[in-house]
Amino acid sequence: MTNAPFVVIKDVAKRWNGQLGVEGITLKIPEGSFTALLGPSGCGKSTTLRLLAGLELPDEGKIFIDGKDVTTSAASDRNLSMVFQSYALFPHLSVAENVVFGLKVRRVPKKERQEKLRRALEITGLLGYEDRKPGELSGGQRQRVALARAIVAGQRLCLMDEPLSNLDAKLRNSVRKDIKKLQRDLGITVVYVTHDQTEAMSMADTVVLMKDGHIQQFGPPEDLYNKPNNTFVAEFVGSPPMALISSDGLAGFAEGQKLGIRAENIQIAPKGEGRLTCTITESEFLGSETLIGLDHEHATGLCILKSGMALMPEGETIDITFTDDHLHVFDAAGNRMAAQA
Ligand code: ADP
Ligand code: MG
Repeated sequence: MTNAPFVVIKDVAKRWNGQLGVEGITLKIPEGSFTALLGPSGCGKSTTLRLLAGLELPDEGKIFIDGKDVTTSAASDRNLSMVFQSYALFPHLSVAENVVFGLKVRRVPKKERQEKLRRALEITGLLGYEDRKPGELSGGQRQRVALARAIVAGQRLCLMDEPLSNLDAKLRNSVRKDIKKLQRDLGITVVYVTHDQTEAMSMADTVVLMKDGHIQQFGPPEDLYNKPNNTFVAEFVGSPPMALISSDGLAGFAEGQKLGIRAENIQIAPKGEGRLTCTITESEFLGSETLIGLDHEHATGLCILKSGMALMPEGETIDITFTDDHLHVFDAAGNRMAAQA
């Protein structure tokens, strides 16, 4: 790892006929790191990745990779590999042929091709599958082929756009770990697009949360979780997300302020001794915990977590309490107020 950032995106904007794609995108990405671009559908994640890849050209701003200004360079001159949601495998070619396709095009000698193929199949757990066609593989195995293809390309920068979206939950979990391990073992720099906050939070060193073409916050996952810049971040990150209480519901806060609180910081209080009286709306058994959804006229997303199987009767009221030092204070515009721990 060097100290100079490996990838620099500087004040980049992209519009189509005046309609916003992304704007004011500035990122510095160190070599060997894992960065997740996170946000709801349409927020500009893929656009940012495609600008970095050279599949789109920015209207404003600059992009540097490894110290070189690549703002207007062709995709093929940027020395990076890409993995997409659609595996983009050739159906008529075998696993092995798919993986080394790019090497063949670049006329890499056969012996070197074979060595790289073997190593990539080994890393992705695909040894023994080299002669199968994509149609004879499971979704997870196909995604591994796409990963193997990115690995043999041997690039230091790998861009991935929702590579796990087509996989079922269990597989997503295991391939997620594979990708993370691969990235670490190979020391490559990964920029990874996902709308799934769990995926971003569990895989990335740095999470970049976007909304409507703009970055809302970037930093280590725990920063977004513990110090959300605004109410959007607070409600997007975490499972369950942060609850928000308006100052109408709590004494001692200024008009228009919103107070954020996470489920793990809320306790059930004896009747009449809590800070809020809520109605139980649902109980969701999650395995190690039960999530109890709560309704209160001045709050959204309120819930508590009880350990084990602990269903509570819907429609009953309970009192809850929490300490002020667990409250996140946001101003009327939804921005985190300064001077909080
Ligand atoms: P995400 O990947 O976060 O779901 P995108 O980056 O694909 O979002 O899209 C961001 C915005 O840019 C959306 O409003 C989308 O409709 C728009 N957009 C993306 N690509 C194009 C295009 N080729 N032409 C016009 N608008 C586009
Ligand atoms: Mg996208």
